[in-house]
Amino acid sequence: MNQIDLQGRKAIVTGGAQGIGRAIAERFIASGAQTVLWDRDLDLARQTADQIGATAIAVDVTDPTAIDMALATTEAVLGGIDILVNNAGIAGANRTVWDYSPEEWQQIIDINLNGVYYCCRAVTPKLIANGYGRIVNIASIAGKEGNPNASAYSASKAGVIALTKSLGKELADKNVSVNCITPAAARTAIFDQMSEEHINYMLSKIPMGRFVETAEVAALVAWLASEDCSFTTGQVIDISGGRATY
Ligand code: NAD
Repeated sequence: MNQIDLQGRKAIVTGGAQGIGRAIAERFIASGAQTVLWDRDLDLARQTADQIGATAIAVDVTDPTAIDMALATTEAVLGGIDILVNNAGIAGANRTVWDYSPEEWQQIIDINLNGVYYCCRAVTPKLIANGYGRIVNIASIAGKEGNPNASAYSASKAGVIALTKSLGKELADKNVSVNCITPAAARTAIFDQMSEEHINYMLSKIPMGRFVETAEVAALVAWLASEDCSFTTGQVIDISGGRATY
């Protein structure tokens, strides 16, 4: 593993209790960052935090009031904030556009897109005041390509890509970078929400012929969250095993 210097940095990873978020938190801690896990599953977040040396904070990213409270707790625990990783997300069920109920559609957009907005809205002023910050949003290859039977998910991730570009420009002269990544599928608990057919479809689209490992995603995020990422903002960085070449 290459050493990425996050020494003394203070980081929030949403959805950090498991999967990709957990791998990012582990990599951050190994790189010297103090890290808090924001997750709506407090029991699992606590268990993970104990195992990896993080702090768990209960928060639902669709609730701006809960985010404000989590932020106040985070500041008290860490003494500041340098890095925000917006990773919390759900896949939702695999259905055609016409089979989605408005409630299902709304829930996916609310967590995956509005949740990123709510967290950025709350944390960005702290990063500006700090004079330094790194925001990394976890989008998806689905946001670039549009996966069939995952329209709400794909649309939410396309929204995250556009939000990243807008916020990146707004913060470009403030030493706060904002980038997103577009991973192909990683075998995590999120697969439990998907049909076997959909999982096989995603794998069939990856030229490298395998799923991405969560540690591979974490390695990319760690660099984007570091001081070395100093002239890259508003970017969409691909990690799709060759599926997208743009
Ligand atoms: P996961 O299901 O393993 O973990 C997601 C975590 O987010 C869970 O701990 C869950 O409790 C938390 N969470 C969900 N809704 C929340 C909410 N409203 N508030 C707070 N926490 C909430 O999923 P994962 O595979 O690790 O995915 C993480 C991110 O990566 C998601 O944004 C996902 O869309 C994205 N992603 C995943 C894949 C993949 O194939 N695994 C591919 C591309 C992008």
